[in-house]
Amino acid sequence: MSADITIIGGGLAGSEAALTLASKGYKVRLVECRPLSLTPAHLTGKYAELVCSNSLKSVDHLTAHGLLKKELELLGSHLLECAKLTQVSAGSALAVDREKFSSLVTQRIENNDKIERVNELAGEPSCGYTIIATGPLTMPPLSNWLKKLGTMHFYDAEAPIVSFDSIDMESAYFASRYGKGDGKDYLNCPLSKDEYIEFVKELNSAETAVKRSFEKKEIFEGCMPVEVMAGRGLDSLRFGPLKPVGLTNPKTGKRDYAVVQLRKENAAGDMYNIVGFQTNLKYNEQKRVFGLIPALKNAEYYRYGVMHRNTYIDSPSSLDQFFRLKNNEKVFIAGQLSGVEGYVESIASGKMAALHAIRVLEGKAPVPLPLETIMGALARYISTESSNFQPMNANYGLLPPLGEDIRDKSLKKEKIYARSINSMTKYMESILWN
Ligand SMILES: Cc1cc2nc3c(=O)[nH]c(=O)nc-3n(C[C@H](O)[C@H](O)[C@H](O)COP(=O)(O)OP(=O)(O)OC[C@H]3O[C@@H](n4cnc5c(N)ncnc54)[C@H](O)[C@@H]3O)c2cc1C
Repeated sequence: MSADITIIGGGLAGSEAALTLASKGYKVRLVECRPLSLTPAHLTGKYAELVCSNSLKSVDHLTAHGLLKKELELLGSHLLECAKLTQVSAGSALAVDREKFSSLVTQRIENNDKIERVNELAGEPSCGYTIIATGPLTMPPLSNWLKKLGTMHFYDAEAPIVSFDSIDMESAYFASRYGKGDGKDYLNCPLSKDEYIEFVKELNSAETAVKRSFEKKEIFEGCMPVEVMAGRGLDSLRFGPLKPVGLTNPKTGKRDYAVVQLRKENAAGDMYNIVGFQTNLKYNEQKRVFGLIPALKNAEYYRYGVMHRNTYIDSPSSLDQFFRLKNNEKVFIAGQLSGVEGYVESIASGKMAALHAIRVLEGKAPVPLPLETIMGALARYISTESSNFQPMNANYGLLPPLGEDIRDKSLKKEKIYARSINSMTKYMESILWN
């Protein structure tokens, strides 16, 4: 089949883009290097594999991440639908069984006769319409070609996953913060004051895997390794991922001094992710130091945490707000490579690139998404904010002011939500369906 468009990379952005274009009847050539070649973080040959946490963050519509999901829902996101069909309970977050999620996306891609699947390591794109969505771990030879666009990088890390059977339930207890969720979503591992101080001390002196100190600007703030956070001061962790607020230990009836939370990783509930414990420590050091947390003293690791170099392009100088290269309008770049950050943001950029590509394939000019939407605001950000450009995730700061002074925070967020949904609905009626 001769394709209308090639998509390179079958991760989150590439899979959303492929399913979007195919659902409109376009023939897609989807090039993916796995399982032939695995990136340093992917483990399978499945499409849309989640490399770290199984959480797609909040679904609360009064948060920026919740709003982004509502916008994607309006636009008919294929991957968000797969996430909902494979979700595991996680309070107000949308968490998925990662294996079931990527299997479902893979099944949808494999069963779609408009998508031709090619298993190879891609290099320089050919002259036809192309969406490059090869992610933060883009492999050569394509990564070499991308250097011409001025690639940049930062480091982030994965958190370990432990087996439920190995957690000491004499010490741990089930509870969700502030009683949200079904009470079984999170396992809490308490630390007394002395245990906490000892833990932070050992964390600060533990040996890291990559023998170098990262410059502050090279580490993405939202994915800070736990040992780097510990180095910022004795209480940093206790006011960060180990905060005990909203939890009462049922064994003592009191709030603990510090709490390590584990989130259910799969539907069977036999794997748990240590929340906020992305790390660059050597594997034996992870076992030793995390073993100082009483409930984890005998923990068995399905996966240890690791640190990776993430690549992204200098989008403000290379991309327009349609995710197209400024110097080659046939080539779109989507996903984390385009300077958005996060699973859902990557899905959103894949959706946007595909919708704009559809307009172009229809012989029409693409129209930017409204700036009042998180998606439109992200597209504007990555294509214009040029000073010291860093990847960006969904947040209210990207949106234009409401134009009225509202003190009540909830009311303000309700108004932001209504404005966004209203703008997106109008955009869909006037642009997408015309
Ligand atoms: C280690 C790590 C942990 C992360 N953890 C989180 C997290 O917990 N939560 C979060 O929201 N975000 C996280 N991110 C950030 C980001 O959201 C994810 O990387 C996300 O998967 C990006 O989506 P994507 O579609 O851009 O790339 P990917 O999902 O990585 O997809 C890219 C695809 O392109 C393929 N590919 C690469 N090079 C080639 C080539 N030359 N030819 C053909 N195919 C190629 C890859 O195999 C892959 O399938 C993490 C990133 C990394 C690197």
